Amino acid sequence: GTLTLEKIKEIVEQKNVELLHLQFVDIEGILKHVTVTSAQLEDVVEGKMMFDGSSITGFSPINKSDLYLQPDLNTFAVLPWTVEEGYSEARFLCSAANPDGTPYEGDTRNVLKKVVEKAGEQGYTISVGPELEFFLFKTDDNGNPTMALHDNAGYFEPSPKDFGERVRLEIYRALKAMGFTIEASHHEVAEGQHEINFKYADALGAADSSTTYKWVVKTIAAKYGLHATFMPKPVFGINGSGMHVNMSFFKDGQNVFFDPADSRQLSQTAYQFIAGLIANVKSFTAVTNPLVNSYKRLVPGYEAPCYIAWSASNRSALIRIPAKRGLATRVELRCPDPSANPYLTFAVIAAAGLDGVEKGLTAPAPVDEDIFHMTDAVRAEYGIDNLPGSLETAVAELENGTIGRATLGEHVFNEYVALKKGEWDSYRTAVHTWEIEKYHAKF
Ligand code: GLN
Ligand code: MG
Ligand code: MG
Ligand code: MG
Repeated sequence: GTLTLEKIKEIVEQKNVELLHLQFVDIEGILKHVTVTSAQLEDVVEGKMMFDGSSITGFSPINKSDLYLQPDLNTFAVLPWTVEEGYSEARFLCSAANPDGTPYEGDTRNVLKKVVEKAGEQGYTISVGPELEFFLFKTDDNGNPTMALHDNAGYFEPSPKDFGERVRLEIYRALKAMGFTIEASHHEVAEGQHEINFKYADALGAADSSTTYKWVVKTIAAKYGLHATFMPKPVFGINGSGMHVNMSFFKDGQNVFFDPADSRQLSQTAYQFIAGLIANVKSFTAVTNPLVNSYKRLVPGYEAPCYIAWSASNRSALIRIPAKRGLATRVELRCPDPSANPYLTFAVIAAAGLDGVEKGLTAPAPVDEDIFHMTDAVRAEYGIDNLPGSLETAVAELENGTIGRATLGEHVFNEYVALKKGEWDSYRTAVHTWEIEKYHAKF
């Protein structure tokens, strides 16, 4: 819904909101906030709250660091876990603005807004349904995360094996109170792994929801003495955590990916969108899979993709078309992981899809066989390429491609590439436990 200042004032009054958290994300999608009192609500809404951009990863250089927070009224929410008799706290998600009021180009929320605008110029609304998986780990006596998984239940397992049930219930209640429509909640395949699904929304709304979801999951888990992690592959040998991104374009209230006349009931636009993803995916993987660790998830055998192909049904493919048609017709991209910045992730995916539509690209034939079990020769025959195998390769592809620079804009693109190169270099030069175990005794 659309919240007005009047309505927000009413809620502040009614719920005794005392503190307001003004939230935004850095270039990695990590949540930040500054807290003010609700007496400052009017100033907040007028965008008068300033902060030091030079202390935020990927933001301004120190010599022009004054930035302003522009709250999005629609993101106003009372925080259910703060509510006491006569007291509560609320938050806004904000975009960063320059001192002259123009959108700050280093803010990734503004990056996504630009793509939304561009799609809008062509008459499209981007609709996004992300699925963020996470693990629950126990914490130690000091509250620090351990590597002990919270339970050893598996896919769809109920209590008493699923120890996460109560935590998920409380996450569900908190998200619902904050305005989410929750569609499903379940134990995932791996031990200690969970997923809670919320309803699809417009791209910006879905990115805001993803940011909120990660924060709420972590906050509620901590109340139970647990650490929730969105790290893509915390434990070797079991499934990692993905963030499948379901996307479709709407025009005049109609899903333009749906065409009842086609054999798969997919439109030309849908096929072109798929073709755009396939053509661009290697150059945006560094955004959708941003960590050194992301590439330990993208290996065969764990329901995560590593080959570039699409299919109507196949869960080993990078792109799947879920069975639902009509308004729910959508393309599911399965490579992104939940450590990615959702604003940048939805921006590059939408831009890649739009690129396919604009250029009228043709999608390759779908691959309905299990790609994990194909030989290299068969994959070569089908023309199936690989996703980048490491952050290093992915960053090189991002740098040499066109979609990243065009979508992220000069500032975010340069900062992002520099950050990720530094991350790779730190990993490359470190000596890891694996090396000690393999080499120390032997050589
Ligand atoms: N955890 C898997 C991944 O890494 C997905 C499993 C599923 O949702 N079916 O993407
Ligand atoms: Mg799912
Ligand atoms: Mg899942
Ligand atoms: Mg899925």
